[in-house]
Amino acid sequence: MRDTLVLNASFEPLSTVSLRRAVVLVMQDKAVVEQAHPGLRIRAAEVDVPLPQVIRLCRYVRVPFRQRAPWSRRGVLVRDRHRCAYCGRRATTVDHVQPRSRGGGDTWLNTVAACAEDNQRKADRTPEQAGMRLLVRPFEPTPADALLLALGVRERAGLPEWLARPA
Ligand SMILES: [Zn+2]
Repeated sequence: MRDTLVLNASFEPLSTVSLRRAVVLVMQDKAVVEQAHPGLRIRAAEVDVPLPQVIRLCRYVRVPFRQRAPWSRRGVLVRDRHRCAYCGRRATTVDHVQPRSRGGGDTWLNTVAACAEDNQRKADRTPEQAGMRLLVRPFEPTPADALLLALGVRERAGLPEWLARPA
């Protein structure tokens, strides 16, 4: 399955996203289908949309997607799907892998989602010092991820099972 091209509201090409994410954008009224695969539709309980080849955002966005995504706490939680990097349970806080007191910064590669308990337990220490192991390696979001962050897209909303898997 090919990726879907995303156009800004001004018709300027911005990025490509997975088909699943394109459908989410259309279902959440963030984008309209400009061009669809002829004759193909996605049908499920609450879904009936043409299979998008090209979608266009409903509102103009000014985020420079070709550049790096700006760091934010909310962005880290979304990137990590609200999963604690130390235990896998639901995360509500952001942990600095290298603590800020030791020069660790607010960057994508130095921060992970963490549950409040693990965040408190790790405190002002590195994972090694705290004897805690990272289950995932922090990464920088792709331009397509940055687009979804900027649009505030909620994942999984009412998608058919086969589309609801992580892209
Ligand atoms: Zn945890």
